[in-house]
Amino acid sequence: MHNEHRRIETITDLYGCDVFNTSARRRYLANNVFEALEDTIQNGVPLEPTLADQVAQGMKTWALEKGASHFTHWFQPLTGATAEKHDSFIMPDHGGSCVSQFSGKELVQGEPDASSFPSGGLRATFEARGYTAWDPTSPAFVTNAYTDRAVLCIPCAFWSYHGEALDGKTPLLRSQKALHAQIERVGKLFEVERVQNPVITLGVEQEYFLIERRFFKERPDLVMTGRTLFGIRPARHQQMEDHYFSRIKPRVLAFMAEVDRRLWRLGVPAKTRHNEVSPAQFELAPIFEEQNLAVDHNLLIMSILQETAGEYGFSCLVHEKPFAGVNGSGKHNNWSITGTDGKNWFSPGQTPHDNAKFLFMLTAVIKAVDTHAALLRSAVATAGNDHRLGASEAPPAIMSIFLGEQLDEIISAIDTGCSIRGRANGGCDMIEIGVDALPKIPRDVSDRNRTSPVAFTGNKFEFRSVGSSQSCENTNTILNMIMAEALDKMCTEMESRLEGTESHKDADGHSREFHDALKAVLRREIQDHKRVLFSGDGYSDDWTAEAARRGLPNIKTTPEALKAMIQPETVALFGELSVLSEREAMSRYEVYRHAWEQTLAMEGGCALDLARTFVMPAALRFEKKLAESLTRSQALGRDAKTRLKAYNQVADLVDRLYNAMDAMDLALQSETAEILPALTVLRTIVDKLESLSPEAFWPFPNYGQMFFNYGAAPQA
Ligand code: ADP
Ligand code: MG
Repeated sequence: MHNEHRRIETITDLYGCDVFNTSARRRYLANNVFEALEDTIQNGVPLEPTLADQVAQGMKTWALEKGASHFTHWFQPLTGATAEKHDSFIMPDHGGSCVSQFSGKELVQGEPDASSFPSGGLRATFEARGYTAWDPTSPAFVTNAYTDRAVLCIPCAFWSYHGEALDGKTPLLRSQKALHAQIERVGKLFEVERVQNPVITLGVEQEYFLIERRFFKERPDLVMTGRTLFGIRPARHQQMEDHYFSRIKPRVLAFMAEVDRRLWRLGVPAKTRHNEVSPAQFELAPIFEEQNLAVDHNLLIMSILQETAGEYGFSCLVHEKPFAGVNGSGKHNNWSITGTDGKNWFSPGQTPHDNAKFLFMLTAVIKAVDTHAALLRSAVATAGNDHRLGASEAPPAIMSIFLGEQLDEIISAIDTGCSIRGRANGGCDMIEIGVDALPKIPRDVSDRNRTSPVAFTGNKFEFRSVGSSQSCENTNTILNMIMAEALDKMCTEMESRLEGTESHKDADGHSREFHDALKAVLRREIQDHKRVLFSGDGYSDDWTAEAARRGLPNIKTTPEALKAMIQPETVALFGELSVLSEREAMSRYEVYRHAWEQTLAMEGGCALDLARTFVMPAALRFEKKLAESLTRSQALGRDAKTRLKAYNQVADLVDRLYNAMDAMDLALQSETAEILPALTVLRTIVDKLESLSPEAFWPFPNYGQMFFNYGAAPQA
């Protein structure tokens, strides 16, 4: 077995070798079973129980050959991470030996004790059962193949005893269904040739930091909370702009190469890797895939990054803001739709016909984001992301869309009703959508505006507000859902305008009536929602003021943002589209709110502990040294003014530190909202002390060490 592991060398051999993908399925399943399973995967046709048994047999044989001793249902409780509980394939026989066993039932459904997962009140401990249910659309895979840690992982949804969703995957799959239905409808409306099911596509760019493992271990704040609660930006940080895309240090490259190999084996199409803006910051981006798979793969990417880092002497930080004063990390969510004709419907297209559909889709996004700006903001509301959004390195908390100059022109032409050509001639020819609305838009015309939360980037929308540590399941559920609603409304209006009309079609295959209806619908939607379009600098104060004038929400904190999830209209929409029931929506609100509270309580508690047990002793030692120096120099008859000043400065800080610790103690016993201000005060004092203290006195590795002292030589 080990030999096979070594034999695999080329990336084409490597890619997907540990995934029960189409070719493995073909090899390990009987023909009829293979076909039935493909039908389930492609078209959602339920798999017969007898066939499930046969799938399980094939999957087991395949996994055993990879050295797997266990299987696990791999699912996504609302913790932001994945969960697993391993079951061995062992079944003892009477003779004291054993056989391997894995049934269809075990493949299709698991029953973990769900009592300790967040459920926001959906599950009382007396009905602790939860169910994991196989998601065949995300293929099973073996982690750590050919080692004694090899495990067959089966991607699953996770429900309560009463069938309520306890995970991120279930609503995502439901929202896909809702959006698929509307894409089909658009396809019919525009009479496109149907060659396939719609596919929502997603490419998730992942930012992260790497620091030396030994520094990480000496920073209990990083260990406990994922971010530094104290620490000052050194004189050199990111101002030279010399890290972005710079040469990758040897040990970092070795780490990245191993990460890529592991991801490729698992069928994750890792594509780009590079140094990011902040020192010690990096990015990995895969090639886009079907959305549900891409969400799973992003979770795998985060796990593999963190696991592999340890083996290369690093710690990988996926927190949104591990270090104050330099860039934080995000997760750019590139979202698009491949329609029933197999083409990307956010591609401007070659023909007027394609362009009409493109404008329809584009307008739907504008409508969706404007209508549900607050809900979209809620999807990225976490304690960690609050430090990043609006911090002039990440998009502001105001949700707006950047389209690029040419599309802005077109949108304003539709808005005013005057064609671009007409206006260029100084007049106002009526616009003909699909005919003269879209001049050839060169691909990639759009955006290098990095300040916008939602940007059209040539053939997709890039949502840049997602936090680096979040699973993007919730974001994508909401994107799908608000898009489904917008398309639904626009299709309904088109259909009712067209009802009964049937007249001659013009060159692009549509009737006069169709063009008129389209023009009217797009114009109205653009007029109603154009306030969400913004091409300027999203970091500027002017924009904050302008956005307020336009009535766009600017929601700064998580608890405020989460409220959008439980507005009656939102809950109704979740229900109409069968994405979340009212109970499920409410419970999620509770889970996210609780996570925010617990994070702050943990950070406050950790900061207090560290202040007490590390910082204060260090400060007192330093104070004592200064006192000794002061009395000694006075005894020697010197004018000790400067020494007295130095002593007083530190002694004052020590006093203030005692007070700030008391204040934090109090804050931890009162409202969660009090913790952050108390933490800010505490941090200011600790950071000032750090800036004055000799390095030998300071109990933690500093930012300078962590930023610049990594990755060069192989770890001793
Ligand atoms: P950047 O935004 O850093 O310039 P790229 O333009 O290369 O990076 O793409 C970012 C991500 O967008 C990649 O993961 C890429 O695969 C993804 N992407 C490209 N086309 C699509 C699409 N049609 N649907 C979803 N994601 C896409
Ligand atoms: Mg990008």
